[in-house]
Amino acid sequence: MQELKIYNTLSNKKEVFKPLKNGYVGMYVCGPTVYSNVHLGNVRTFMSFDLIYRYLLHLGYKVRYVRNITDAGHLTDDNAEDKISTKARIEKLEPMEIVQKYTVDFHQILEKFNNLSPSIEPTATGHIVEQIEAIKTILENGLAYEVNGSVYFDVLKYNEKEHYGILSKRKIEDAIENTRNLDGQSDKKNPQDFALWKKAEPEHIQRWPSPWGVGFPGWHLECTVMSTKYLGEKFDIHGGGMDLKFPHHECEIAQSQACNHTAPVNYWMHGNMLTMNGKKMSKSTGNSILPNEIFTGENEHISKAFSASVARFFMLQAHYRSILDFSNDAILASEKGYIRLMEAVSLTSKLESSKSSSFDVKAWKQKCYDAMNDDFNSPILIAHLFEAVKFINLLKDGKETLTKEDLLEFTTTINSFVFDVLGLESAEVGEDNLDKLSGVVEMLIKMRNQARADKDWNLSDKIRDELLILGIQLKDGKDGTSFTVN
Ligand code: AMP
Ligand code: ZN
Repeated sequence: MQELKIYNTLSNKKEVFKPLKNGYVGMYVCGPTVYSNVHLGNVRTFMSFDLIYRYLLHLGYKVRYVRNITDAGHLTDDNAEDKISTKARIEKLEPMEIVQKYTVDFHQILEKFNNLSPSIEPTATGHIVEQIEAIKTILENGLAYEVNGSVYFDVLKYNEKEHYGILSKRKIEDAIENTRNLDGQSDKKNPQDFALWKKAEPEHIQRWPSPWGVGFPGWHLECTVMSTKYLGEKFDIHGGGMDLKFPHHECEIAQSQACNHTAPVNYWMHGNMLTMNGKKMSKSTGNSILPNEIFTGENEHISKAFSASVARFFMLQAHYRSILDFSNDAILASEKGYIRLMEAVSLTSKLESSKSSSFDVKAWKQKCYDAMNDDFNSPILIAHLFEAVKFINLLKDGKETLTKEDLLEFTTTINSFVFDVLGLESAEVGEDNLDKLSGVVEMLIKMRNQARADKDWNLSDKIRDELLILGIQLKDGKDGTSFTVN
């Protein structure tokens, strides 16, 4: 097996990946709070972990990938309602209708971007019993206290023996110094304390009975409880967006330590943000693009529609730990690159072998692996794939050569990196739709011929390129234009 290095945000270093159990990986990624449509920024984070999941699978690991659905408990701030209850009240729906609506949307969108489904997708509301049990344990261990039907984690007490701030590198002492005088209205002993259980006010519609009265669990607790339940007290990888490092992940560590007396995670991984105009993409500020707006082109920030594969390629051209700024020009450039790459990939099955090789396939292949082994460096991998694109075009023209074995290794490697690891797609067409599709493509070929006759090269190129994005390749021959569907 290749030696994989992962940037661990706990140590802030790249470390050689050693799973707890040889050949197996347990990975937990914080899922969405299902109270609104996912925006492209959310998609980026889930896609970053999809790349990581895909590469671990590609390396041969058996991965148990757990990604939760937050369907209760995510507070807007300390004394407010949770996000789902608020939305339910505004839309005059049951909270579970809100949850259903946006969970379905989330799944559909992630599928469009060709993200693999996790192995387990547990929900917060499905694990209330476990959360209550965890709170009991933390209370028994003296690291939480009850006030007025709510239970809070005692951060100061915890910090006497452990380090609250170990992940986010914050000093709790500094935070206390800065906030001491601001507190007073809350039930909490200290502003740093966080809710494990909140008493439900009469208008709060998501509520469960507990030993402390009717209420609902705090947001951080669900991830501790569900990761422990499905991956164990200690597991390999925990991921999420950078903005979850504090307080969410810091609190998860504290809760796990308080329950199980062990640090829960060996490798913490955080994906960086998608920005637009230099600012974090976010629903609440309006600085966001929804995936469906990308597919239809209906957003003021873009000049046309883009396919999910192009948007995926655009995101994978940046390393998951780098900030990526979305702009029309940037995604247009990615689209060009994507077309070039897919055009070359579709040629690989038609290349012919020779008696000797003029290209060192093994060295090139190792460079692809080295890139991904270096903390999943997809932009460097893509650069090596473009090296292959150049080579394919020379091979096609007979200006370079490969032996039969080398050609096989070369094409298998390209295909597995492009489709299995990067998860790029060409459209697949079912038998039923093939007739209809043929009719439509024939019609577009006629329109393209007309455009060419009119010397409208822009239109004729556009028809060819857009079809290619959909995985349909036009080929001009002696007898007119034919097409293949990849
Ligand atoms: P939420 O539903 O708000 O809990 O967010 C779901 C995931 O999306 C979390 O992992 C966030 O870190 C991530 N996220 C939110 N905004 C962005 C953004 N602009 N770019 C990348 N990831 C984001
Ligand atoms: Zn979480």
